[in-house]
Amino acid sequence: MRIRLTNIREIVTPVCPDLAVGDNMNHLTVYTDSDIILSDGMIESIVHRNQSHPDVDQVVDAENSVVLPAFVDSHTHLVFGGTREDEFNLRIQGKKYMEIAAMGGGINSTVRATRMEDEETLFEQAVRNLRDMVAHGTATFETKSGYGLDTETELKQLRVIKRLQDTQPVGIKATFLGAHEIPTEFRNRKEDYIKLVCNEMLPAVKEQGIAEYCDIFCETGVFNIDESRTILRKAKDLGFKLRIHADELTPLGGGELAGELGAVSADHLVHVSGTGIDKMIQAGVVFNMLPGTTFFLMSDHFAPALDILAANGILALSTDFNPGSSYTHSMPMIITLACLKMGLTIEQGINAATINGAYSLGLQDVTGSIHPGKQADLTFLDAPSYKFLVYNFGVNRVRAVMKKGKFIFQKS
Ligand SMILES: [Zn+2]
Repeated sequence: MRIRLTNIREIVTPVCPDLAVGDNMNHLTVYTDSDIILSDGMIESIVHRNQSHPDVDQVVDAENSVVLPAFVDSHTHLVFGGTREDEFNLRIQGKKYMEIAAMGGGINSTVRATRMEDEETLFEQAVRNLRDMVAHGTATFETKSGYGLDTETELKQLRVIKRLQDTQPVGIKATFLGAHEIPTEFRNRKEDYIKLVCNEMLPAVKEQGIAEYCDIFCETGVFNIDESRTILRKAKDLGFKLRIHADELTPLGGGELAGELGAVSADHLVHVSGTGIDKMIQAGVVFNMLPGTTFFLMSDHFAPALDILAANGILALSTDFNPGSSYTHSMPMIITLACLKMGLTIEQGINAATINGAYSLGLQDVTGSIHPGKQADLTFLDAPSYKFLVYNFGVNRVRAVMKKGKFIFQKS
């Protein structure tokens, strides 16, 4: 089945098919006079508008859209029970996190709700959120457990993720995040919880083959560097690839640990040190930045994206979609925040949200740019140019989203 995608205002893609780093990060390739030929869901070629092509089965009118690679959201928490809008309302009135936690809010309220909810309800809620994210242009996701904090519920969350992988028309990579927080019942015996993660949860997740990555919340008051190293080493020994929530709230040294252990990605990095940056670059760790979280937590201290780019680090952007610290479905909003709050250009923002997200998930051969041989994972914008993605802030300009050559969202 060969499709010709015509009437495209701009085809916009990262320059290289594998990664945007160094000067390539500053550029996008833009075609203003071309069509895309798709063959069996894959990108076959980009041809001039006037160039004829034999054997086209179907012509699809892009309605003068700007066509970009569909976004790759490489850090989300999609599966959870309940929502925390009342807590948000208290937070914006100045209530401190500790006060909210003492009132029964915070991450432990999501843990309680996730433990209580049956698998079907968790699945349905995750599907609703996933569809809203697709409607904002994303077609590939990483998503995590981490709201169970007991073996049974962590496995339940991962089974829901597996069901999303099997039923939803998007790409999904699964991550085990049993070390997201210390559950209330282990508050005074953290070592026992670490043993539970290492000796029971990780082997069970491995045996069921339902997560590719292991992640941890390495943070002051949660898991310190030594504890994080213990858990991540065990995960690595079992064959998991590593991701780390690092240096989000305090400069604890998560960036250094990510470099030391050869993690695929370290995420947040608001307080990453110079040494952490060096070690991550030496080890090729992706710097995954989540400005939506900083914004939603009402901080003015954003991650040092420009330092990473100056040092030729690999920069990705993600939503960190979760019920507490970043309740947004929108990658365009994240790119806007990255530009306005971290100083990225529009081109850098789009590269970080597409090809570099794909790279961080090992999917750079499959998605993240518009190059022959990749899946036709495309986002169609109703806009005069790709720059309106950021310039027209807070507005969803996404008209349609395609995954493997099939529309998975079309604005009605
Ligand atoms: Zn997160």
